[in-house]
Amino acid sequence: MPPPPSSEIISRGLTGCCPKCGTRGLFRHWFRLHESCNKCGLSLGKEDGFYLGTTSIGYVLAIIVVLIPVCFLVVTDVIGVWLGVSIGIFGSLVLVAAIYPAMLCALITVYYLFRPQELVDSQNDSSD
Ligand SMILES: [Zn+2]
Repeated sequence: MPPPPSSEIISRGLTGCCPKCGTRGLFRHWFRLHESCNKCGLSLGKEDGFYLGTTSIGYVLAIIVVLIPVCFLVVTDVIGVWLGVSIGIFGSLVLVAAIYPAMLCALITVYYLFRPQELVDSQNDSSD
């Protein structure tokens, strides 16, 4: 059985569904995926890179969306330094926490978009 087409992998991944079978419910909780898909058994927990990549993207987004604008406001004397520091710390944490599942979905999508052969049942590709 061939892997799903790229458009299917993208639409499933970006909506939080299993990229292999399309089942919803990949998340154990807000910050963690299940070890595997409940329906098809696609392994999700083995890829620690999903979490490392999410953290890296979170840092970059926090710099672009929160820290640079706050620095601009502090430099132009719109807000004080300590208010800027407080907003920078709190805003970065809230931003990363709020979008964490979306970043995980995006990383899963990109991962399986470039490795669709991993979505094929292991019984069928015994040549590897
Ligand atoms: Zn599945």
